[in-house]
Amino acid sequence: MEYTHRYRAYPNREVAAELTRHINIHRQAYNYTRYEYTNLPDDTDTIGSAYKHHKRLKPWKDEFPVFGEVHSKALQKTVTRFYDNLSNLKDKKDAGYNVGWLKWKPPREFRSMTYSQSGFELKNTSGQTATLWLSKIGDMPLTYHRDIPEEAVIKEVTVKHESTGEWYVSFALDVDDEHLPEKPPVETLNAEDCVGVDLGIRNYIHTSNGISVGKLDVEAEYERLRKAQRTLSRREHGSENWETQRQRVASIKRRLRRKTLDFQHKLTTWLVTEYDAVFVEDLDVKRMLEGSQSAKNKQDAAWRQFIQLLEYKADLHGCHVRQVKPENTTKMCSECGVKTDKPLWVREHSCPSCGFELDRDWNAALNVLERGLKQLGLGQSEVQRLLETGATVDDDQAWSVSASTVVETGSPTREQGSPDLKEAATVAAE
Ligand SMILES: [Zn+2]
Repeated sequence: MEYTHRYRAYPNREVAAELTRHINIHRQAYNYTRYEYTNLPDDTDTIGSAYKHHKRLKPWKDEFPVFGEVHSKALQKTVTRFYDNLSNLKDKKDAGYNVGWLKWKPPREFRSMTYSQSGFELKNTSGQTATLWLSKIGDMPLTYHRDIPEEAVIKEVTVKHESTGEWYVSFALDVDDEHLPEKPPVETLNAEDCVGVDLGIRNYIHTSNGISVGKLDVEAEYERLRKAQRTLSRREHGSENWETQRQRVASIKRRLRRKTLDFQHKLTTWLVTEYDAVFVEDLDVKRMLEGSQSAKNKQDAAWRQFIQLLEYKADLHGCHVRQVKPENTTKMCSECGVKTDKPLWVREHSCPSCGFELDRDWNAALNVLERGLKQLGLGQSEVQRLLETGATVDDDQAWSVSASTVVETGSPTREQGSPDLKEAATVAAE
């Protein structure tokens, strides 16, 4: 499987200048590829595909020595990038979109370059920082907040200069399927290793075993963003002040995204390492059922990202992840199956039919768990057994943690309000 890790890079002034110069040469190479594609006769066997076009790199370098100053594999990759864009454009066209022709790229629209297969090395990865070496450029430090697994192969390295002025490095990673941990056979799953997760409104998530994690507080960041945007709207469009302010807005947005992403990374990593099977609702179906489109868009985008992270980590950590049918997970009683309407402000599930009472989101998470187990292919009796032995609906077993605890410690730790501590306290009191 393939996936990407992205890190902030801190090139020093000299290295940053070299990076900028190289990216600019790549931009010219991209534009030149476009020029040749448009202007050279069709019968040339060096035009028409990335592979063919790579043959033109030698004559290029003879004519324009500047193309010899960047890494040759990276230069090939830039030519390939043009053809990739071309094929994306074609796909869009085929899908009925009204598309134009690929544009000539000015500097502000061409901000990255990609080293493919060679010309790079990732070093000193033991701590929170690492060093990336790029051929013809040099070393630059990275914040190395996530390890690249040992069995992963780095296929490509992309260096990008964001419009905010920040540098980022993305590693395209490939893990051979045979190196991925095996997922436990479905029929051997233990009840306590399976979890249903309700994506909440009041809480960020609520699990079927009673753990609730609070929402990430980004109000301060949003307030700062609104303020910065107001200032931007007062500046004269295109002026130097406007440009400075535009960068400030972009940087606040980026910080906001990073904060959310970091939180989601921690939470999803915890889920797939703590459990063997994790179930969430299928968000797309859910929204379709609700018929709502615009109102919650921002939150939906965040949830989609959360689910995506969960799914790709599932394979890396040998965990089953399934998205289940979302119909009536909230309305349905997880104990007897009877449906009751619940307005949003009703926080408790209280079943008029069987008398079962539980936190609203917890009840939903239990329904998600049941559906997930069925979706894994387990039979009714097996599902029943797992639910009966595993699902606790005891308030004493519940604990909540704040999002900031997750951010600080990396998981919803049990230290505060943990049942273990409570139990210990009870025993001590007796
Ligand atoms: Zn009931």
